[in-house]
Amino acid sequence: MRTYVRVGIALLSPFRIGGWLSHDDAANQTRTVRDPAEEDRPFVPSTGLVGSLRAHADDKAEELFGPPRGGELKASPWWALGVRLSDDLTIVQRGQTSINRGRRVAASRGYRTSDEVLPAETGRPDLYLYLSSNRPPATLLEVLATWRPTIGAGITSGLGDAEVVQVLYKTFETTSPADLLQLVQNGKAGPERIDALLAGADELELVKQPPALVLQATLRVEDLLVADRDDPAWRRASLFHGSAWKGILRSRVTYIARCLGLPCCPVPQGDDGTAEDWTGCGACPVCVVFGSAESGQGCWAFSCSEQVHDPETVRERHRTAIDRFTGGYRSGALFPEQTLPSHELTLTVHWARKPDLGEPDISWVPRALLRALGDLNDGIIGLGGRTGSGLGRVSVRELELGVEAEHGPDGEPICIIPGLPIGPADTPLINKLAVKEPADA
Ligand SMILES: [Zn+2]
Repeated sequence: MRTYVRVGIALLSPFRIGGWLSHDDAANQTRTVRDPAEEDRPFVPSTGLVGSLRAHADDKAEELFGPPRGGELKASPWWALGVRLSDDLTIVQRGQTSINRGRRVAASRGYRTSDEVLPAETGRPDLYLYLSSNRPPATLLEVLATWRPTIGAGITSGLGDAEVVQVLYKTFETTSPADLLQLVQNGKAGPERIDALLAGADELELVKQPPALVLQATLRVEDLLVADRDDPAWRRASLFHGSAWKGILRSRVTYIARCLGLPCCPVPQGDDGTAEDWTGCGACPVCVVFGSAESGQGCWAFSCSEQVHDPETVRERHRTAIDRFTGGYRSGALFPEQTLPSHELTLTVHWARKPDLGEPDISWVPRALLRALGDLNDGIIGLGGRTGSGLGRVSVRELELGVEAEHGPDGEPICIIPGLPIGPADTPLINKLAVKEPADA
């Protein structure tokens, strides 16, 4: 018996494989894995996808893919034959600035570019994973029906999000002359051979399982600073990046926690550059939720938000730098500023993993996140660059919460942060939430 399965996967966000944000090469560039045969084409090794599938298979993992690493050495019942990528996928370079958390400004030498592979948006799957076994497919199909694959690195910053859109499968009985004939008469090779074998195959009915929501908010943003409308990467797909959401909100949640005396990362010491690579203490609730180099992947994933990216809508005006000594205009200091006019952005935060037993209590963090949204709405913080001169103003229009209030023994919701009400918050409620500033304390 020989079974072939083809899994069609659509990308929901860009991905990057094998690049580490903290990796510094000479050009400060993080590259995704390339096709060994074609240097400008992306490549997805099947091992990573199978790892994601194995993690999803849970208690069926061993039955499908053999004992875990370190266990008895046995061949996996299911073989990954490879991954075929759509020709429409392209690699773009995105510029990024890392933040020195000690000084809360852009780190020196912090600018780097990183490769990202953009979804093709053709309406067809972006990649196909091919699997084969000498077993019937029932258990594998059960697992595939609810699988939500992740591809590469940066999952909690909105990269590598994908969904299964089509699963074709067919079993050939090698004892049946007709089936055997089909197997041997197919003169093609590689993926094409299996595509031909799967012509007229059965299609699995998929059960969509979107990840559990922490929060989704619709925001209206005024005058968001655009890096450069002539940048080809921006023209192809302007995304308000998950890493940017994560950076802004983590910083504000940490600030709120400090104001209220809740456990959070200490302020990193030292202006000698040692704080530049600092990614969190690794031991506090903020690190559990947002992740750190010490404690690994955070519990929450911040999706990239789609944004209008018609270069025609970008407004450009010129500003002049001020000479702080004379108080007058500085000669030769005229610079252009490109902004997007009023538009909507959707912020989506979902659970990437549940907190482990033994990790600190994170129950107050969702409410601090709500308060951070309230601060965005109040104009205390903004999005993007030059918020100090009034750019990137935000108003919260709609809010959906996936987290629920916990109830005490008397049935009343537990108020974890004094002054922060509990419960199905809507936009007006966010406006009313109050946090004490350090000066009041
Ligand atoms: Zn921490």
